[in-house]
Amino acid sequence: MSDRALSRAAAGTSSAAEGRAAPAPRREGEAARFQPWGLPGPGDASRAVPAVHFPLPGLALPFGAGRSYGDSCTLADGPLLDARPGARIHDFDPSTGLVVADAGVSLGALMAHVAPRFMLPVVPGTQFATLGGAIANDIHGKNHHRRGSFGAHVEALTLRRSDGYRHELAPGEPLFAATVGGMGMTGIIERAAVRLMPVASQAVRQATVRLSGLADYFARAEEADAAHEYAVAWIDSLATGDRLGRGHLITGDHAKGEAPGGRTRRRLTVPVTPPVSLLNRLTLGAFNALYHARVPRGGETKVVPASAFFFPLDAVGHWNRLYGPRGLHQHQSVLPHAHAQEAVREMLRLAHNHGHASFLTVLKRLGANQSPAIISFARSGVTLTLDFPDKGPATLALLDALDRVTLQAGGAINPYKDRRMSAAAFDQSMPDWRLVEAVRDPHIVSDFWRRTALALSRSEADAA
Ligand SMILES: Cc1cc2nc3c(=O)[nH]c(=O)nc-3n(C[C@H](O)[C@H](O)[C@H](O)COP(=O)(O)OP(=O)(O)OC[C@H]3O[C@@H](n4cnc5c(N)ncnc54)[C@H](O)[C@@H]3O)c2cc1C
Repeated sequence: MSDRALSRAAAGTSSAAEGRAAPAPRREGEAARFQPWGLPGPGDASRAVPAVHFPLPGLALPFGAGRSYGDSCTLADGPLLDARPGARIHDFDPSTGLVVADAGVSLGALMAHVAPRFMLPVVPGTQFATLGGAIANDIHGKNHHRRGSFGAHVEALTLRRSDGYRHELAPGEPLFAATVGGMGMTGIIERAAVRLMPVASQAVRQATVRLSGLADYFARAEEADAAHEYAVAWIDSLATGDRLGRGHLITGDHAKGEAPGGRTRRRLTVPVTPPVSLLNRLTLGAFNALYHARVPRGGETKVVPASAFFFPLDAVGHWNRLYGPRGLHQHQSVLPHAHAQEAVREMLRLAHNHGHASFLTVLKRLGANQSPAIISFARSGVTLTLDFPDKGPATLALLDALDRVTLQAGGAINPYKDRRMSAAAFDQSMPDWRLVEAVRDPHIVSDFWRRTALALSRSEADAA
């Protein structure tokens, strides 16, 4: 079925070897820049090539929307292959729940196309990420405990290697398993068929309760997962002592017969990058206190639009600019359940002791569903996400300390949020990277892959 859908979709579209149609005008909000999200400065647009010609003459890197935070979506000395221009949705069959689209289509556009009765089974916290980026990073959402990672819903994909040869891939095939989660290293994902999730509506019935501290989260999180499609916790990273880990536990389910209340919010944009980070202990302290108190003691339940539930940060365009010209570091770890509480406590304390405040701190349980990917960050455990303004060496020292706690607990660090982890930390987080390296496209590489996987390969070869 998926092969048929893919070949039906393939008929009537131009081949990348022939060059693509003229780039579509970029819509507002779509990154017209070629910069990872952690670095808010203007990207080097001259490095992006919308029309790809095969065989690729030299090194290059596929690029989605640059919603990865670090150097997994950059290549210092080669072109970025922009998947977005001309990308479109080819087929959507409500009787089967399958959608076939080009890799450069944004997740937001896909969601809008299949609404109101279907939904992408996995979405990240931004609708601007592309289908290709979602597959290449095997992303996870607030419902990982039910649906697993994005790759689990891909029924087929077309991968183009730098020699120009197209591979039609399906789950179970080795190149499929290396491509899902493979961070772009196996070639250019041109198109994919994704199985959708039927939903009662796009709106979400959202329930929020206050968490008094970390132990409260760990006492409630498993039950929240069992009872709800979506569950995630916001943590006030400035709270200490008994209140360490206080925050909100937010659960959600697609609403049945209820319309979202409230007014549609206007989209704001941070127009320029300020010379220094506007996010500091003072502004964060005020924000966290207000945000925590916003939810009444007894909790609150309301029906909200999908955009408010899934993509609250997208309401502020270029919010990453608030971190100033040096940008931000996001540290995302996943910790085995047995050590999670202790390790999260230790990491929150470390941030305090290093004098760093995390602006956005999120806790979430990831389920036991196996990803089809050879390497994937998404795995069973508890994931902690921390965002820090880049203050130079002090921040790097903190991040290294957070890595140590993560790895000692038997956990892993997310490579697509990273721009500084050591090669050894990557090796410990994703020991199967060698299987991806074995089938890497010889003309594709990223800055991240170079400084981790290729550095490790070189030192292993030298040692042999
Ligand atoms: C506000 C925000 C919230 C987020 N929330 C989450 C979350 O909840 N869960 C989560 O998992 N992630 C989350 N992320 C991270 C983001 O969703 C992922 O990094 C996503 O993969 C980015 O997709 P992209 O299209 O921007 O790809 P890019 O960042 O441009 O590229 C990502 C990788 O995919 C490769 N790639 C892109 N297109 C192709 C293609 N056509 N063929 C082959 N390889 C390709 C690139 O080479 C690169 O290695 C969030 C990011 C932001 C900014």
